[in-house]
Amino acid sequence: MCGIIGCAARRDVADLILGGLRQLEYRGYDSAGLAVIRDGALLVVRREGRIDNLAGQVKVSGVDGHTGIGHTRWATHGAPSEKNAHPHADGSGNLAVVHNGIIENFREVLHTAEGEGPRVPLETDSEVFAHLVQEHLKATLLDAVRTFRSANYAGPTRSASSPHDHPRLLVGARRDSPLVVGRGKGEKFLASDASAVLEYTSDVVYLDDGEIAELRPDGVRIVDLHGKNVRRDSRRVEWVARPSGPRAAFSTSC
Ligand code: GLU
Repeated sequence: MCGIIGCAARRDVADLILGGLRQLEYRGYDSAGLAVIRDGALLVVRREGRIDNLAGQVKVSGVDGHTGIGHTRWATHGAPSEKNAHPHADGSGNLAVVHNGIIENFREVLHTAEGEGPRVPLETDSEVFAHLVQEHLKATLLDAVRTFRSANYAGPTRSASSPHDHPRLLVGARRDSPLVVGRGKGEKFLASDASAVLEYTSDVVYLDDGEIAELRPDGVRIVDLHGKNVRRDSRRVEWVARPSGPRAAFSTSC
């Protein structure tokens, strides 16, 4: 179980992502990371340990941008290390992916995929997303994610990805585990749990299984696995998220 959040906005999003990750830290805390797009470049920061470690490095590096994704990990495949922390970028650094869940047959999926695939062996199941979505990226990111999502891989999963050549675009896909869209004014969010976005908006949409959402600062498009547009009303969530500042360590299990 991990926590994911993404944001496409008209303002810098690193602090929004870190705030959302603090709300999700109960879901996993062996490593954390974020990726943003700045001036056409994809910038990724990852750290072992808790969100405070990541936040410190983000502050030192000054990494920020208007579109980004973040992740707090509880490793299932591959050691809990900085290298295996999410987001995972594809080989060309064109897009980054965060993933919550398990792809049991990731080696088989990679082996049977068309194209060259990554040149380095993968240690974690989630990396397969970044490499294969990039291979399908001939039309739109949404179609590439849909093609990959329709492939026959096993295990519950949800993911969000962001490509540097569409610097305001974020795509999320749901399979079994919940995925929520937050609709703020001039900023849209994706998260594994509504608590991660409630500091920023109370207007949320819960995706159904198999749905894929394409987010830009001013709009959300939701499609099913066949690419057909889905119309979905949002709900107003009345409960309030706890403040997301740095907090003392706590322990739990997930
Ligand atoms: N399977 C992924 C990994 O080990 C995601 C972990 C999870 O969602 O618990 O990185």
